[in-house]
Amino acid sequence: MSEVVFIGTSDAFGAGGRRQSAVFARAQRGGMLFDCGATTNTGLSQLGISRDEIDVILISHFHGDHFGGIPAFLYAALYTDLRRHPVEIVGPPDIEARVHALARAMGHHLEDREWSFPIRFREIRPDESLSVGPAEIEAFATEHQPESNPQGYRVSLGQERIAYSGDTGWFEDLPGQIANSDLFICECTLHRAQLDFHLSLDELREHRDDLDCGRLILTHLGHDMAGRRGQIEIETADDGLAVKL
Ligand SMILES: [Zn+2]
Ligand SMILES: [Zn+2]
Repeated sequence: MSEVVFIGTSDAFGAGGRRQSAVFARAQRGGMLFDCGATTNTGLSQLGISRDEIDVILISHFHGDHFGGIPAFLYAALYTDLRRHPVEIVGPPDIEARVHALARAMGHHLEDREWSFPIRFREIRPDESLSVGPAEIEAFATEHQPESNPQGYRVSLGQERIAYSGDTGWFEDLPGQIANSDLFICECTLHRAQLDFHLSLDELREHRDDLDCGRLILTHLGHDMAGRRGQIEIETADDGLAVKL
């Protein structure tokens, strides 16, 4: 059995007083994070989840609200946790260079430092699969700003299959990509369809019957969506929501 805890559920801008994207999945063989927004350390601390439990950080694309928390995560692992075991950082092509550049820009450069634990970067491209730590990961292309190298994932953790949209607009193949999942964690930034690069409640309602998933939970909620929890028929996440699979 796996457990999923939503660490951060807001859009890029902290709508509704929520934290940026991060979802923790705990399985028998280890733990992983889906995305690591800038507010991730705060969320883990508040929810009592140890960074040591996280073996893999899986990044959907290179926007700050999805990977901006990695440098501080690594520094806290080094100085606060005295971490000894490896962390695997998995993401789209260029993940290593992007994280290094980000860390350098933040004044938390990763080079020329004695790390007490190995930091391993692994790239995964759409239609590829990868076995990392507790997870079997498959990537698929999504509709988001191309320069951010966007992709979504299907992840098997033991018996459970979790699909994760990352950030995306609607595309025809989305139902096929997430089919047969036990849980689909889907972005829903907007109430009304306004953008090609983000999903809306209107679009998800229209296509709900096409989504073959055991449970659908909406996250990455923007201003209009943040106030709708409990008022709509589709489940929405809050920071701290824990789900057993
Ligand atoms: Zn985002
Ligand atoms: Zn984005």
